[in-house]
Amino acid sequence: MDIENIVKIQQDFFNNQTFDYEYRIKQLEILRQMLKNYEDDIYYALREDLNKSRFETLTTELSVLYTEIDFALKHLKDWMKPEKVKAPITHKGTKNYIYKEPYGVTLIISSWNYPLQLAIAPAIGAIAAGNTVIIKPSEAAVATSRLLSNMIETTFPKEYFTVVEGGKETNQALLSESFDYIFFTGSAKVGKIIMQKASATLTPVTLELGGKSPAIINQDANIKLAAKRVAWGKFTNAGQTCVAPDFIYVHDTIKTKFLRALIKQIKAFYGKNPLKNRDYVRIINHNHYKHVERFLDDEMIIYGGDRDEDRLLIAPTLLDNISWNDSVMQEEIFGPVLPILSFETLDDALMNIKKMEKPLALYYFGEDETQQDKVIADLSFGGGSINDTLYHLANPHLPFGGVGTSGMGSYHGKYSFNTFSHDKSIMKQTTKFDVPFRYPGGKLTETIIKKVMSKF
Ligand code: NAD
Repeated sequence: MDIENIVKIQQDFFNNQTFDYEYRIKQLEILRQMLKNYEDDIYYALREDLNKSRFETLTTELSVLYTEIDFALKHLKDWMKPEKVKAPITHKGTKNYIYKEPYGVTLIISSWNYPLQLAIAPAIGAIAAGNTVIIKPSEAAVATSRLLSNMIETTFPKEYFTVVEGGKETNQALLSESFDYIFFTGSAKVGKIIMQKASATLTPVTLELGGKSPAIINQDANIKLAAKRVAWGKFTNAGQTCVAPDFIYVHDTIKTKFLRALIKQIKAFYGKNPLKNRDYVRIINHNHYKHVERFLDDEMIIYGGDRDEDRLLIAPTLLDNISWNDSVMQEEIFGPVLPILSFETLDDALMNIKKMEKPLALYYFGEDETQQDKVIADLSFGGGSINDTLYHLANPHLPFGGVGTSGMGSYHGKYSFNTFSHDKSIMKQTTKFDVPFRYPGGKLTETIIKKVMSKF
């Protein structure tokens, strides 16, 4: 079926059926069961695309989805209830509500790095909110794209939930159709194209983009734990994580100690020769391998640097003697290469980070709460953790999204439901009496009107 027709049949299907609470619950349960039924195929596809181990697929893809579905199943009734809100005294006699209205036909365009999670997690929100869904997975994760298409096609009717596979051209064809909501995960460069296309039809968008997320390690950090959590956050998925620490910014006085702890931790996770570790994730494709390889400057490598172009593997690598002007500090790395910069005072560190684009995530390691609060207050970023990395995004009570060039809008948990719902404001007026002052020709003086209005 061509793209125009798929959009058309979804527009026709989007009717009261998808609005119904029971219907939404049923679809979420079917989706959960679908993931369960296909678990082995999912493990296989992710091994094919990225050499992800079962452990990594379970912890970074499947478990996030099961949590999201279970959370939606548990809270959907509450989320769907019209929210009663207050009114000022000028609206005496009224009852005021926010109704959550599904948008209609939604398009979800996703990236390749967590190819299952990033396609399905937004779809959970879209379904919970009562929409129909078309997913365009990333063509770079070939096996997962194929599997997403197969499992969704055999589980759901096309007019409700479907997958359109393909690359840039397919996306362009999709974007020339009219959608009610577009949810995009990918680069800022393509995010701009999406927003431009969406502007032609005034379609609302969420953009989940990337950036250079710093990890600041201050003097009073628990060095051992900081090293462990940074190594995990950076080298999980071989650094191909939108919220991975992109670079380390460590206090001068603890730099050597921290580096020693970091190297020890990398060895503990991946062994002395990560290229021989059968569970070490590979780079998605040759193009991206070349992108990451450009940063492997022998003059800067202080640990790692081993690579195997045929198998698309790059070992966890640390770079030192970096300046802000080096290319590795000019663009998102999105691979297992970690530059280390150092600072003398926290104020200097914050000042330098402020000069950069607003990152998707920021991590601060240090015990002093005043300094923690200073970092949170002084810097703008999508979200982050104090004394940890990545883990914030697995909490369905927290919104996940960027700010500035790292994105707009957010999702996860209730925020996914809100993202895919229009807030419809309704005021129910009384007919028992009629407050007179807003009508022309009334007898109330300006002074009384101002007095009443000041009570807003
Ligand atoms: P990308 O922007 O190249 O591709 C994303 C999607 O856009 C894919 O489905 C692709 O087919 C499509 N696309 C590519 N070029 C297009 C074009 N010219 N016109 C229309 N569509 C086009 O990004 P990517 O390589 O898949 O992912 C890497 C980037 O995504 C990184 O910057 C990373 O930080 C970011 N990312 C962000 C999140 C997040 O949740 N915020 C998650 C994963 C990745």
